[in-house]
Amino acid sequence: MHLYGTQSIDEQGQLTIGGTSAMTLANTYGTPLFVYDTALIKERARAFIQTFDRAGVQAQVAYASKAFSSIAMYQLAAKEGLSLDVVSGGELYTAIHAGFPVERIHFHGNNKSDEELNFALDSGIGCIVVDNFYEIDQLKRLTTYKKMNINILLRVTPGIEAHTHDYITTGQADSKFGFDLNNGQADQAFQLVKDDIYIQLLGMHCHIGSQIFDSVAFSLAAKKLIAKMIAWRTQFDFVCPVLNLGGGFGIRYTEEDKPLQPEVYVEDMIKSIQSEIGLLEYPMPEIWIEPGRSLVGDAGTTLYTIGSQKEVPGVRNYLAVDGGMSDNIRPALYQAKYDAAVANKMTKESTTRYTVAGKCCESGDKLIENITLPKVEAGDTLAVFCTGAYGYSMASNYNRLPRPAVVFVEQGQHRIVIKRESYEDLIRLDCSLEEELGENS
Ligand SMILES: *Cc1c(COP(=O)(O)O)cnc(C)c1O
Repeated sequence: MHLYGTQSIDEQGQLTIGGTSAMTLANTYGTPLFVYDTALIKERARAFIQTFDRAGVQAQVAYASKAFSSIAMYQLAAKEGLSLDVVSGGELYTAIHAGFPVERIHFHGNNKSDEELNFALDSGIGCIVVDNFYEIDQLKRLTTYKKMNINILLRVTPGIEAHTHDYITTGQADSKFGFDLNNGQADQAFQLVKDDIYIQLLGMHCHIGSQIFDSVAFSLAAKKLIAKMIAWRTQFDFVCPVLNLGGGFGIRYTEEDKPLQPEVYVEDMIKSIQSEIGLLEYPMPEIWIEPGRSLVGDAGTTLYTIGSQKEVPGVRNYLAVDGGMSDNIRPALYQAKYDAAVANKMTKESTTRYTVAGKCCESGDKLIENITLPKVEAGDTLAVFCTGAYGYSMASNYNRLPRPAVVFVEQGQHRIVIKRESYEDLIRLDCSLEEELGENS
């Protein structure tokens, strides 16, 4: 069995995370429960940041916060010296509410509204990653009206296809994101912004995919972007101070996944950038990267209580947990694979094959197909590993299931960072037909 971060097994044969027994956490906060091992998040953040420092390369490591967005997470990221990616007014609002330094926030998205852009401009945000021609028009109009400066990067698609499932690939030419680097769109965008008085172009951004397990794709992408930077210098005497190569660094969900260490991704990236620009005497740009999953993914574990079971004779045994696709949509959406253990039976022999089903009214609501576990009973606690990224952030109230609570654990301390939703929360925004409608509704 593979344990992550600070996880271990105590004398009672129970899983512990951050020095606290999973059973204590389940009993204290209820289930389903997201548990974050904050020591592991910090270790990852430091690995990325310190590798740039050691190489003497100016950098920003921006946490791609769509992976897991909350006030406490933003505060942790700020303290670790990370920058931040947000992709909506809602994430920006949460970050500002958390006190995140605005100059280190970068705003992404392929359809930002005027309202969101105004919010970003008024907040004094560090950088807007401009995705398309419509957004260039919006920004020109809004900055001219406000007489406000803004730093931007142009998001480009270099046409590099990184290893991953199709649904989560964004680096190909056929992508809804960014300006195509190869068909003239990126050049056209550059022409539109390079002499603008309010818009300061810092350079280009690309994000070539997710769950990338080697550094070759990043090197290829860097090569493509640098070729364009050189062309712009030659033609227009324009030098880009920033090169942003996005996120997508892989993590280990199951034994099939073989990610590199953060240090290796960064070292290889620096080497390939330095060798590209060295020959042409281009000044070393500041390197920005945007890890999401690799900062929080395997730091998160979901604890569920096991309830019913169903045997389909000769086919499979289903065990059902008290959550499912409502707190983890990834198996249903991407056929994502997870590993799990029975938190109160960590030293028992794994003898029985199960399919782990959720409790939603949907046949596809299965979290894990075919996992061998010790024989389980109702009341056992199932720990599903590596749920820290795109779990809570994609959670829904499907079937009106309240969203789980989230706790941070470290060195024997645990604290709630997102409360469990109550039934009252579920109806908070509902309006009854029995109510008189007020003037403003
Ligand atoms: C989602 C996303 C990331 C983070 O991807 P991970 O696979 O979680 O590292 C980074 N940059 C952009 C632009 C993204 O959309």
